Amino acid sequence: MATSGARTKISRLGGLGQWWGLIAAALLIAAWINRATGPAIVAALSALVLIWCFFQAPVTCGAPVRGGEDGCRNNATGLLMGCHIRQHRWQKLKMLILRRHVREFCSGLFSDGKATLVTLAAMGSFLSGLVAFIPGVALN
Ligand SMILES: [Zn+2]
Repeated sequence: MATSGARTKISRLGGLGQWWGLIAAALLIAAWINRATGPAIVAALSALVLIWCFFQAPVTCGAPVRGGEDGCRNNATGLLMGCHIRQHRWQKLKMLILRRHVREFCSGLFSDGKATLVTLAAMGSFLSGLVAFIPGVALN
């Protein structure tokens, strides 16, 4: 039961600690403005922000619930992960794999302000990581 204890501690930390990914995103933007920063640092920051968006960001679960129109309203960790309910945990990853659910998944990405913010951060860091890895694009 050591793992569940650790989890309670993390959720109690809550608040700003959950948003460390946005700090990484701010550092990423600063790295882009300051051209002296090497592509390795940009790539590393991009990866950090992406990991945060997918697996750590405090968003609403949104997994489809039988009988409910809005989906699950529990707090989830990351765009790809559901809440503490076991069935929800992998629901969104499954939605991405089953093509007929991809549209549902995408609409969930913009379901509320928090989700939109996290989605935009994910897109931005993905693009910046891409550009960092392809030096030719960065020159344009
Ligand atoms: Zn849920």
